[in-house]
Amino acid sequence: AKAAGGNRYELADADSDARAIARHDLTNCLPGALENGEFFIEYQPLVRLSDGTVRGAEALVRWLHPVHGVLGPDQFIPLAESTGLIVPLGRWVLEEAARQARAWRSDGRCRVPLRVNVNLSPSQLRYPALVSDIVAVLDDAGLDPSALCLEVTENALIGADEEQLRPLRQLADLGVDIALDDFGTGYSNLSYLRRLPVSTLKLDRSFTRGMQRAPADPVDVKIVEGIVSLAHTLDLSVTVEGVETGTQADHLRILGCETAQGWYYARPGPPERLHTLSLADAAS
Ligand code: C2E
Ligand code: CA
Ligand code: CA
Ligand code: CA
Repeated sequence: AKAAGGNRYELADADSDARAIARHDLTNCLPGALENGEFFIEYQPLVRLSDGTVRGAEALVRWLHPVHGVLGPDQFIPLAESTGLIVPLGRWVLEEAARQARAWRSDGRCRVPLRVNVNLSPSQLRYPALVSDIVAVLDDAGLDPSALCLEVTENALIGADEEQLRPLRQLADLGVDIALDDFGTGYSNLSYLRRLPVSTLKLDRSFTRGMQRAPADPVDVKIVEGIVSLAHTLDLSVTVEGVETGTQADHLRILGCETAQGWYYARPGPPERLHTLSLADAAS
């Protein structure tokens, strides 16, 4: 991580810094890091495009490494996946995020009951106790299932059969929202979408880069238009990540996307900031 003035920092690019930090070094201290409480979560607001209100936030995990400073998930999630630590780490993220969402919801300063999005990795999806774990986490936090959205990447679901989809379907039946993350980067057959228990498509930011400045790339506009119309036909809502400019936000709103997330609204930050953002949002 690089210092970026004050107590802010910027997450280093996985491909620049990760090479410098020996992989075995990180792998060795990864298990202890969870016990030592070295992980923390930043929250990035999700904003309703029609009126600019903050509806919730995505939980994004970071590792405050004692030597290397703050590491981004791209630098350690793959390691956690290959060593199996992702299951306890993922459970910790769920617990933290659920507690946080409960805290937002019982705090009178938030305008609407905020929701929290949590990323699930492929190994978590294969973990037999996933559903009972999540039920227990929601129960302990006193959080309604509808306050939780689980983000699963398109690639993690490609080729999944009914048996493999069952945990997600059970969670969806309980009222948990499921979002298909990084949508458009995989190669799933579009008709396959009908079989998935998802309620939201989270469009990868590569599709909307061409809308950052006017004039928008007409091909990008057509593609997003097509995806939104397909999503709405299937009764799915569309969230766009990586929204960096107001021009982009305007385009996406006009194209009918429901929700946006990105630096234009806020970078990932501490949970307390959600109160302030929720109060100061455009609808006030
Ligand atoms: P993601 O789920 O696609 O998360 C969005 C990423 O885009 C985040 O990177 C976020 O900081 C970044 N981002 C947000 N707004 C903008 C923007 O306007 N412009 C640009 N250029 N980038 C933006 P981050 O925090 O580095 O996370 C990277 C990936 O790590 C996430 O991608 C997610 O797949 C994974 N991840 C994060 N937390 C967890 C976790 O708790 N569990 C698992 N399994 N994966 C996680
Ligand atoms: Ca995500
Ligand atoms: Ca994503
Ligand atoms: Ca992504």
